[in-house]
Amino acid sequence: MKTAEIRRRFLAHFADNDHTVVPSAPLPAIEDPNLLFINAGMVQFVPYFLGQRTPPWPRATSVQKCLRTPDIDEVGKTTRHGTFFQMNGNFSFGDYFKEGAIRLAWELVTKPQSEGGYGLDESMLYASVFHTDDEAIALWKKVAGLSDDRIVRLGMKENFWSMGIPGPCGPCSEILIDRGPEFGADRDWDAGDRYLELWNLVFMQYERGPGTGKEDFEILGDLPAKNIDTGMGLERVAFVLQDVNNMYEIDEVKPILDRAVELTGRRYGVAEPDDVRLRVIADHVRSGLMLIGDGVTPSNEGRGYVLRRILRRAVRAVRLLGFEEPAFPHLFPVARDGMAASYPEIAEDFGRISQYAYGEEEAFLATLRSGTTILDTAIAQTKASGGASLGGDKAFQLHDTYGFPIDLTLEIAAEQGLAVDEEGFRRLMAEQRSRAKADAQARKSGHIDRSVFRAVLEDGGNVEFTGYQELARESR
Ligand code: ATP
Ligand code: MG
Ligand code: MG
Ligand code: MG
Repeated sequence: MKTAEIRRRFLAHFADNDHTVVPSAPLPAIEDPNLLFINAGMVQFVPYFLGQRTPPWPRATSVQKCLRTPDIDEVGKTTRHGTFFQMNGNFSFGDYFKEGAIRLAWELVTKPQSEGGYGLDESMLYASVFHTDDEAIALWKKVAGLSDDRIVRLGMKENFWSMGIPGPCGPCSEILIDRGPEFGADRDWDAGDRYLELWNLVFMQYERGPGTGKEDFEILGDLPAKNIDTGMGLERVAFVLQDVNNMYEIDEVKPILDRAVELTGRRYGVAEPDDVRLRVIADHVRSGLMLIGDGVTPSNEGRGYVLRRILRRAVRAVRLLGFEEPAFPHLFPVARDGMAASYPEIAEDFGRISQYAYGEEEAFLATLRSGTTILDTAIAQTKASGGASLGGDKAFQLHDTYGFPIDLTLEIAAEQGLAVDEEGFRRLMAEQRSRAKADAQARKSGHIDRSVFRAVLEDGGNVEFTGYQELARESR
């Protein structure tokens, strides 16, 4: 089943059950210093959960474009983490609660494909619940007919969701699918790739206080209503239904990987380090496409820097596989074709998108050519003098004079068995920043009052998003 069809069936199932289909919010989150990108379907609905705004509908469903930079180091190494992915979700604002959420989810995953469902093999499915949630356990037995040995109680880290800061929270329950012994040990819930987490159902009913983090906080009391917030990884369901090994091999992603194989002349499935790089290329090119599609452009700070880092990681991976020419003109059109069925606007806007992507690649290739020579010399010198760590001043010079990013210096040094004096690097960066600040003050150049800017923004229709600071979904 094609990914676009899996997505269509999700929305149809919930529309048939009285949910209003709400479009995805764009990837860039509002002007919020703590949240650069939307990382879950519920982000656009937070004010409804908190009772700050009245939801226009009691039930909603969406397929939300998500970006999770904290997962970037997992990409290509696990079977299931993309930087960009799509989260199918259904939401109840004080309407149905645990039983409804479990029933609707179970129906869709187990209904035969000939009847519009996903037709997953019930004997492979497990449910995790928050360890004290006996009510959820009883419901999994009653609604889904699961036996005790297919229900696992997990703790705060896996099965109690909060934003990591004061705000809505609640216990959650997840549908896992057993991928078989080749993906990990029996009942090893933590490893994640054997018992693949497909769908997280959050029973959003409490408000949490500050506490010290994601797992240690106090419950202040009940939210105005008992809500449901669910998130199902579209790519994860796709890789199960398409019977491939991981999310980088699904119909929307694999053609990019295949094109990278052709370009580099490497084979996929022979050596793990090559495979990881090929998957990184496929993932990052698609993320770049979707980010630029949503208006992000490469720059040295904020969202633009995240995009730049993703694109540059892709370029690096291509080069490490031995292809030194510009690769994006070969890869981006393939990524576009993979996404066009669900996102026709990406195809329409491709002229603009590709201009940014190709320009960024060319600029980076030029930077790499000059910087790599200098870095190689510095590494050789460090090694010759018996040092184990590259000087912070070298890393700073590369960054400052040649625009050579620190993460790349770290990576290349590590490949050569060297550490980098990061502390020294950061000290020099901080010194440079305070010099720049002093300079700016001396010039008494344009003082910008950002609160005015923000007030304008809020008047302009972004009011939905005020009132919360951060949405780190990692504790889900
Ligand atoms: P995991 O434990 O596998 O990292 P998670 O618990 O962090 O997943 P949630 O925050 O519960 O994930 O997000 C809801 C759903 O979104 C998950 O059940 C999963 O199907 C999907 N998902 C989460 N992170 C990613 C990702 N990086 N790439 C693809 N799908 C993801
Ligand atoms: Mg999880
Ligand atoms: Mg995670
Ligand atoms: Mg989860």
